[in-house]
Amino acid sequence: MLSVHQFPCLSDNYGYLLHNSVTGETAAIDTPDAKEYLKQAEAKGWTITHIWNTHWHPDHAGGNVEIIEATGARVLAPKEVEKLSPIDRVVAHGDIVNLGEHRADVIDVSGHTNGHVAFHVVEEGIAFVGDSVFALGCGRMFEGEPKQFWASLDRIRRLPTATTLYCAHEYTEANAKFAQHADPGNSALEAYIEEITAKRARGEWTVPTVLSRELATNPFLRADDPAIIAKWGGDAPHETFAALRAGKDNF
Ligand SMILES: [Zn+2]
Repeated sequence: MLSVHQFPCLSDNYGYLLHNSVTGETAAIDTPDAKEYLKQAEAKGWTITHIWNTHWHPDHAGGNVEIIEATGARVLAPKEVEKLSPIDRVVAHGDIVNLGEHRADVIDVSGHTNGHVAFHVVEEGIAFVGDSVFALGCGRMFEGEPKQFWASLDRIRRLPTATTLYCAHEYTEANAKFAQHADPGNSALEAYIEEITAKRARGEWTVPTVLSRELATNPFLRADDPAIIAKWGGDAPHETFAALRAGKDNF
C-alpha cells in the first residue's frame, strides 16, 4: 500500500511524502523545507529513504543536503539538480523509479525549467507534477520554449483523465482570476471557481486536483480549444499557449 502525506510548507508550497507501508520506504517528493519534511516524517513514524526531485529550483531541491545528512536518503533527480545537491541516480523521460514493488514513470514536463520531470504512479492514478501544471494554471516559463512547454502539457493531458495531480503550490485563487479572463463563458470553469473561492474562504487546500477537471477548465491545457484560440490567436497550439503564458505574466 502506498500513501501520500501532504502538508503546507514555506509560504505556499505543498510538501509530499510517499510511503510504502510494506517495505517502510518513504520518498520525499521535492524538499522545499528540510526541517518541516523531517518533522512531518517523524510525526508519521516514517524515515525518508528516497528523494524524488521534480526540478532544481531551491524551493524544490534546496532541502536535499540537510535531509541526506539526517537520513542517508538516496536522491533521484534530473541532472540540473546537481546545482544544489549530489544525485545518486539521474532520471529523465521514460525512466522508471521504484518504491519497493511500486513504480512510477518519469515524464518530461520541462518548460518551467529545463530538466523538469513528473512522477506518475500509474497503479495509484496519481502524479507529482511539481511546477509544470497547477490547478487552473501552469508554471512560469523560466528556461523553456513554448513548443517544449506545450509538448510537456500535452503529455500531462494524455494521462488517464482520472489522474490526481499533486501540484507543488497553492496558487489556485490567483490562477482562477486569470482563467476567468482567459476563457470567459466557460460554465465548468465558473462552477470550479465557486468551489475554489468557498474552499479558500474556509482555509482549505485546493490541491490536489484531478486531470479531468483541469482539461475542462485550465486555459493552459486548452490552448487548442476553439474558444481559447479565438481570444488569444496563434496558428498552432504552442503559439496560443505562448500568448496565454505572456498574458498571465502581465496580468
Ligand atoms: Zn520552480
